[in-house]
Amino acid sequence: MSKKQKINQVILLIIDDVKSSQFFELLDGGKLPNFKELIENGSFCKDCITSFPSVTFPCYPNIITGAYSGYYLKEGSGIPSYHWVARTDPPSIKKKLPFIRNYSIGTHIFKIGSDLGDNVKTIFEQAGEGNFLSSLNIVYRGSYIVPPTTFNTENVFKNIEKAFIQPEKFFEIREVPKITVGYIPKTDELLHDFGFDHPDYINEILKCDKYFGSLINVLKKGGYYDSTALCIISDHGNYKVKNLYDLEPFFERKGLIPYNPKKKRGDFDANFGSIGHFNFPGDTWHHHPTINQMKNFSPSGKSNKLNLFETLWEIPGVKLMYYRDDENTPERGKIYIKEKSEKDGKLREGLIEYRGFGKELETKYTFYDEHEIYGYEKSEKSATLLDNNFHNIEDWLSGTYNIDFPMVSDQISRYFKNPRCCDILISTKGEYGFNYEHGETKNEHVYSHDIGLKKSMTVPMIIGGSQNIPQTELTYCKTTDIVPTLLNLLGITPHKSVIGKNLFK
Ligand SMILES: [Zn+2]
Repeated sequence: MSKKQKINQVILLIIDDVKSSQFFELLDGGKLPNFKELIENGSFCKDCITSFPSVTFPCYPNIITGAYSGYYLKEGSGIPSYHWVARTDPPSIKKKLPFIRNYSIGTHIFKIGSDLGDNVKTIFEQAGEGNFLSSLNIVYRGSYIVPPTTFNTENVFKNIEKAFIQPEKFFEIREVPKITVGYIPKTDELLHDFGFDHPDYINEILKCDKYFGSLINVLKKGGYYDSTALCIISDHGNYKVKNLYDLEPFFERKGLIPYNPKKKRGDFDANFGSIGHFNFPGDTWHHHPTINQMKNFSPSGKSNKLNLFETLWEIPGVKLMYYRDDENTPERGKIYIKEKSEKDGKLREGLIEYRGFGKELETKYTFYDEHEIYGYEKSEKSATLLDNNFHNIEDWLSGTYNIDFPMVSDQISRYFKNPRCCDILISTKGEYGFNYEHGETKNEHVYSHDIGLKKSMTVPMIIGGSQNIPQTELTYCKTTDIVPTLLNLLGITPHKSVIGKNLFK
């Protein structure tokens, strides 16, 4: 028999807004000695691909559930993006909807548990009996939440230490937590305020390593280290936008009045970093518009009709546009892609088709006029996916993990399957940033995340601790693989909604 001890606990730490390349540069430069030690006795991945759009919501809840956005009334998470307009499906005017969800506002963040819906489960809900701890973790459904004291990075770690020193402080049954999730939001705040190259941002990552070292010591002292799996991950990477632009006057000129949910009036709702989510009323604000309705739109501020597609192309820097077909169902559908050519400014077309649900979802990406949109032709692996066939998420991941737009066909489909998705999605690929939210240009931040490029979509991933964990470098993985991997280490079968797979199988 092996002397190796069974894994009884897992600790998952999510450091918000850390791109893989920067993390491993710091680690290889000797700046993160405790994380480095974890790698030396465990597994790691430099190409861990997150969800699209690469924003905290949906990326962070997707880590905790192992699932993605989808037709949440039947499958998948109900959270497609950070901001969304709630419309009923099928449209019903009886309910108070439609409202605008914006997780930055007041109490909206506490709706995450109900927004996720019942068809996906948090790691805690999937794990059966035991003590479950959330340390500043906002996606806490099914766990005990450490009462708020001071919300800083150090306390996220200290509270976990406390749960391993004096579990009776948190739990009725005096046992250390079987599953712990710690969330560190401070890094994201510092990135937006100062940038990835600023000492304060970098120092916060260094602090995480230091506090992590202290946590390891507590686990070793208590005799828990050999029976614990520890995982470090981030929810998304980041980038610096090249140009800022104030969109408020643009919409005014077009006569487009921002939607006011209290009055249930207005022409559009939008939030737009470098990815723009645009919502328009169809027959009413309860209905998504048809393509024709968007081509012949009457703005309330002007008498002339607008073709909204043409209007949005006038926004500076727009390179990509997505919208769905009118006939789409949760089971199958089409998403149209338009791209503005860098060479001649002409519009080129592509198409994403999807069929099936959850793990069985398959998508097909085709392009026209020999003009491939994502650069998939340039790599041998990704070029094999341009075969006019449907492919599942694993195919897309293995073909595109190390280039821009990883798994884009799969992720765009899962986004547009959700009734809470927008009507027209546009991207400047990080060239222009607008910081526009629901009628207002909010700030002049140039550091951001949301786009499908590698730097925003790739995060670091480490699993170590117990000697039962294989020692290997994983060529690629995705953030939804973490839940099934950690549950399997505990001997637990993940819920059927989980899309990710066990990395050690
Ligand atoms: Zn984030």
